[in-house]
Amino acid sequence: MWIRSILKFNFKTAGLRHCYSDVRVRFAPSPTGCMHLGGLRTAFYNYLFAKKNKGKFILRIEDTDQKRVKAESISNFHSVLQWTGLIPDEGPDVGGSFGPYIQSERLKLYQENAEILVKSGSAYRCFCSETRLELLRKESMRNRQNRGYDNKCRHLTASEIEDLMSKNASFTIRFRIPDKSISHDDLIFGNYTYNVAENEGDFIILKSDGFPTYHFACVIDDHAMRISHVLRGMEWLISTPKHIMMFHTFGWNPPKYAHLPLLVNSDRTKLSKRQESVSIEYFKEKGYFPEALLNFLAVAGGGFGKQEGCIVYDLDTLCSKFDVESMNTNSCIVDLRKLDLFNHNYLAKQLENHHSVNALIQWLRTALRDKYGKRYEGEESNISDAYIKKILLCHKDRINNLLELMSDDMEYLWTQRNVDSVISTLSELKVKDTALQALPSVAESLSNVSETEFNEENTVLLVKDVSKQLKVPYAHLMRALRIVLTGKKDGPGVGEILFMLGKERSLEKIESVVLFSKAILKENKAFS
Ligand code: GLU
Repeated sequence: MWIRSILKFNFKTAGLRHCYSDVRVRFAPSPTGCMHLGGLRTAFYNYLFAKKNKGKFILRIEDTDQKRVKAESISNFHSVLQWTGLIPDEGPDVGGSFGPYIQSERLKLYQENAEILVKSGSAYRCFCSETRLELLRKESMRNRQNRGYDNKCRHLTASEIEDLMSKNASFTIRFRIPDKSISHDDLIFGNYTYNVAENEGDFIILKSDGFPTYHFACVIDDHAMRISHVLRGMEWLISTPKHIMMFHTFGWNPPKYAHLPLLVNSDRTKLSKRQESVSIEYFKEKGYFPEALLNFLAVAGGGFGKQEGCIVYDLDTLCSKFDVESMNTNSCIVDLRKLDLFNHNYLAKQLENHHSVNALIQWLRTALRDKYGKRYEGEESNISDAYIKKILLCHKDRINNLLELMSDDMEYLWTQRNVDSVISTLSELKVKDTALQALPSVAESLSNVSETEFNEENTVLLVKDVSKQLKVPYAHLMRALRIVLTGKKDGPGVGEILFMLGKERSLEKIESVVLFSKAILKENKAFS
């Protein structure tokens, strides 16, 4: 309480409201799976809090539960943080003065500190067997209590301990929970008071394999890394009194805590880490931009004042708007439909600026190569940056996501086509011979239009003229043209297709069908 008031007072007088000195915050994920929406929200809010207060944002890997560690997690955390621009100031990759930043590399520190507590009597060795602990757990369940451990080993005498130690008996170290309530002033949840001793037995701080438990390692590291504020999910609120008790026992000042409200689905069910659609990798693969994702989380999570519409702000603007104390405790609804709007708006904004358009073009080229492989590479020489830009601008108002440009009905825009299969589609769909016979005239007529005038209106007018002159029904001609140009019977208007493909590619497509048909269908009257 006093830290907050003193620090706030200093900055308030300097005119910087809600600014703290020497802010050091950490994002401390456990590497038990890939980063998900909840994890990204925690990282993001810590980052904003650090930047807003000119502090440091630290990445710490909490891998004390070795059985649950998944090898690919740490590299996934790094790549998600890079992708979203939430770059740690200190962490396993970048280093820093308070490392190592991976808990399994700090075991000595935890063991030494556990020993200090044992010596002072604030912790003790517990020799209870797994079987006994299992029986206690079952009994608790039967009595519908959650008491956990019964503190038996608190009462071992010095000679009993000595005897067990001389026999090399395996032991854990437990924290002796003081019988008192602990209060803290949470920056979001306000005053929170809880008596741990009334609700559970002494908890383990060091396991028999020499690894600390989460609670202990977290306290030791928050102190050793000079963490000033802990911003984490509200599922940890109930553990905070435990942590504060340990800080007090060591005679250290605990950090300030801010517990972030739960993220829930639109139907108010809890967002599960197992839902595929909450992994950040999933959003990346689905073509969402990191900027859209962060702004979406900002709106869902609160702390940014009133937000109008789904405007996408840059990180600096989000930092200046963020105020952790303006967050309320209600669960935050994650409505993924809004993410599409954010992505749509971000895309539209990027299309207004030359540099960002180039970045979109490069992004799209990589995605096209990934999706179509050789079929795209064969066509690549026909796909200029200007062409991609034109396609982007044509679709600006219709798409939320660049991957929509790679749906089945847009394949013709990007890939080398197989004339053979166009010919068979024409015959399968029983395109009229008269329409096919008119194609050379359409090509000739279109070839007289200049590149700059080759737009939707002009091309449609020319096709209409040909249909009139040759007395071929306009609809028949358009149908034939759509198939010739796209290989499909449905799709956008033919004028738009012609405009998107441009003069050269449109003519090339029409002429190749005409030529090919002539060559292989010598007897076909349609082209004679
Ligand atoms: N390792 C914990 C987690 O993955 C972090 C909790 C904390 O921030 O203290 O949720």
